[in-house]
Amino acid sequence: MRAPDASYPRPQIPSVNQLLPAEPLLLMGAGPVPVPTEVARAGGLVINHLGDTTDMVVRHIKELCGYAFQTADRHIFGIGGPASAAMEMAMGNLLWPGRRVLVLQNGWFSGRFAEMAMGVGAEVDVLAVPEGETVCAGRVAEHLQGRDYDVVTMVQGETSSGVCTVELPQIVRLCKEHGALAVVDAVCTLSTMPLQKDEWGIDVVFTGSQKGLSSLPGVALISFSDDAWTQLERHPGPKPHWCLDVLRARNFWENHHYHYTAPVSGLLAVHEALRLICEETLERRFTRHRHSSLALQAGIEQMGLKLTAPEAIRLNSVVAIEVPAGIDDGRARGYMSSRFKVEISGAFGLNIVRIGQMGEQCRAPNLFRVLHALGVAFAKEGAKIDASAGMAALEGYLSRNVDDLL
Ligand SMILES: *Cc1c(COP(=O)(O)O)cnc(C)c1O
Repeated sequence: MRAPDASYPRPQIPSVNQLLPAEPLLLMGAGPVPVPTEVARAGGLVINHLGDTTDMVVRHIKELCGYAFQTADRHIFGIGGPASAAMEMAMGNLLWPGRRVLVLQNGWFSGRFAEMAMGVGAEVDVLAVPEGETVCAGRVAEHLQGRDYDVVTMVQGETSSGVCTVELPQIVRLCKEHGALAVVDAVCTLSTMPLQKDEWGIDVVFTGSQKGLSSLPGVALISFSDDAWTQLERHPGPKPHWCLDVLRARNFWENHHYHYTAPVSGLLAVHEALRLICEETLERRFTRHRHSSLALQAGIEQMGLKLTAPEAIRLNSVVAIEVPAGIDDGRARGYMSSRFKVEISGAFGLNIVRIGQMGEQCRAPNLFRVLHALGVAFAKEGAKIDASAGMAALEGYLSRNVDDLL
């Protein structure tokens, strides 16, 4: 036997267990988010991807998605991959050379649709509003005049700037009147605020597992209306993506045959995450998210920090906070992590920090922990902060509104 080549040295790597004491940070950023115990447990199992249990899990997930998306769609799929893979599935199956798409863009994630649409050779128009603003129905109506699109894409919540597409139902209606399919990114919003797929007339909606659903990263979910399905069946081929071809995905998701090895652990985790949503009920979950976020926002403002988005278009699922002039937010976030073991997110360009309010992030102890760490860390960097006033405002809001909900 030949000795191993000395130019590839055998590394001495610590185990995950050895890494862990440094890492169990409370994840209060824009995702991934903490997961409930049931989800973590389910995600630690591996089962046969073509066995009876997986068949049942798949059936349950589709049924639970019907509730979460509020839809009677027959074509619902899980995907082994990030939420962007679901976005790519929508773009890669509904668009091809000669198809026309309008991308409503007001930030980083809504703009990603355009890159994907270009990648599959569609004709792409972008209706862009500045980051930090929302796309309103009036602008869309104006733009659609005299133009012709097969598909219009939009986000419900723009995670990069903390802005909500508040006129989403009206925009979707405009798309339908125009004869275009409405594709909606509900990655950070699903199960955190109302979304009525069928009632609003949304054709395609998708989400990831690691945000609103509070599951492990690595599984995405997507639902297609019959109209969308009829159109994607007309794809002239060849398909740009093999894994993301919905007609192939159907083998597994509708016919219980092999397509690719399904992420069984992730599916078990999503099964539990969706089941817990169902148990909590959407109504209670929306209320919990709204009160949790508003309580946090009250605390942030009382501390002396400014929320980026105006109240009318503010996204509750991801709260964006302005970084005060002259303050190094990277150092403040670093201090929050090292001193308090709480992590929040920076941004992709805007001078903001972002706190997530998705799933398990919306629990009272987590609110106190993140708000306290934020206040102390920004004060340490020299910002004018009254941390105690913020904590009192948080406490006050919770005791007035939601004594036992969180
Ligand atoms: C996080 C996010 C995405 C991308 O999700 P990945 O899982 O990272 O691919 C897309 N859209 C929105 C609105 C998001 O918040």
